[in-house]
Amino acid sequence: MADMSVKILPALADNYMYLIICNKTKEAAIVDPVNPESVLEAVQNENVKLKSVLTTHHHWDHAGGNEKLVTLFKDKLIVYGGDERIGAMTNKIGQDDTFKIGNLDVQCHFTPCHTTGHICYFVQTPARDSKAVFTGDTLFLGGCGRFFEGTAEQMYSALIEKLSNLPDETKVFCGHEYSLQNLKFANHVEPQNVTIQNKIEWSKAKRANNEPTVPSTIGEEKEINPFMRVCVDSVQQYAKSHGNPIEAMRAIRKVKDSFK
Ligand SMILES: [Zn+2]
Repeated sequence: MADMSVKILPALADNYMYLIICNKTKEAAIVDPVNPESVLEAVQNENVKLKSVLTTHHHWDHAGGNEKLVTLFKDKLIVYGGDERIGAMTNKIGQDDTFKIGNLDVQCHFTPCHTTGHICYFVQTPARDSKAVFTGDTLFLGGCGRFFEGTAEQMYSALIEKLSNLPDETKVFCGHEYSLQNLKFANHVEPQNVTIQNKIEWSKAKRANNEPTVPSTIGEEKEINPFMRVCVDSVQQYAKSHGNPIEAMRAIRKVKDSFK
């Protein structure tokens, strides 16, 4: 068995929580435990020791279960986050902070824009043969989060300067099942992009079986996600951004905000 496992736990209407397991030590962490009861069930089923909570941002559908989860577990949980508004937070973290989940290495990427304190968590095995990033509401499969508390410059920094520079094989676990809506918009921006068309058909089949479309990979997002492609000619032409990727980011987010 590989050193790292990730269990996908659906919650609410379209949220995902993720149980990250170090298979060597059987220690685990949970990402955005909005539904503490189903986290408890998964921890028991997997027979792992839950040690920490990785909070991507303070919105209730991500952080809203933190307090209850902490009271449900008799062992003290470490609650990581990058925003004072996160309930039960014990460890405030920022850019390039590191910590462990058993033997697994976690590196924090500070990605403010959707909220001012948003964090993405990059997790690797000691042998570097398995890599995953937990992107909350910053990077979605085929899309990105709304700019509630930030700017196009900040989302450019998050998606292009930070997340795009992770290894292409890194699996992307995002906060919501928004893939089909996002890919419909991606297809609108780049109607000639066959990789997007293929991903739409694949995603439809997955959803018809009630299966998640996550994870994608960083390499795949660079092929299908218009917000990861603001430097690409076809996206710039759509955005009429004249070679300016930040203007392209601003323009396509504005269109996507009201796209149906
Ligand atoms: Zn959010």
